[in-house]
Amino acid sequence: MVWALTVTVDRLEHWGTTGSESGHISDPVLCVAVRYDERMPRRLFIIDAPDRFVPGTIGEPGARTFFLQARKGEAVVSVALEKAQVAILAERLSELLEAVLEQPVAGPAPDDRPLDEPLIDLFRVGPMALAWDADSGRVVIEAQPVNDGGDYVEVPDEAEEGPDLVRVRIEPAQASEFVRRAEALIEAGRPTCPFCGEVLEASGHFCALTKAHLN
Ligand SMILES: [Zn+2]
Repeated sequence: MVWALTVTVDRLEHWGTTGSESGHISDPVLCVAVRYDERMPRRLFIIDAPDRFVPGTIGEPGARTFFLQARKGEAVVSVALEKAQVAILAERLSELLEAVLEQPVAGPAPDDRPLDEPLIDLFRVGPMALAWDADSGRVVIEAQPVNDGGDYVEVPDEAEEGPDLVRVRIEPAQASEFVRRAEALIEAGRPTCPFCGEVLEASGHFCALTKAHLN
């Protein structure tokens, strides 16, 4: 399977079968991997303070594919996931912000622009992790590929063996905007009343326009 990938990240660490290579690269680095197979080294995408970290979709309502995407400069890192995972992440983020902040932060200007190109999903997300980094006052979000057990695999970054990982560290305001955008995305995919345009709830809908209860 030939697989093209173009990413630029703060720190790219990878380990191959022929030896190991790691290090911190402060300048964004362009990495092009053209082949993917069992011998593909472990990939860590660590993006500190991305310019943008958003959920997004491609495709028509009802057949949308969801992504998480981080962009920093020219670097674009995207992973695919389920709508339910976007919803859970937004909910947990919201709870986390509420727990750690004394007062809500104003998000940046709402960002409803489409996902950035190139949109190449690095992997399909399985377990995710969320943490508050009190030292930097930032939220840390991690995503690992789907695995058999479904559990988050805890391994040090230095470990040669282990799942791929995307890790972003974002400002609370960015997290708050992520939550807003995620909720809007999820809402946008729900069926609406053909008469008044309101979202149809699972329990039914009382249409203000037709004065009728629709199921
Ligand atoms: Zn209605």
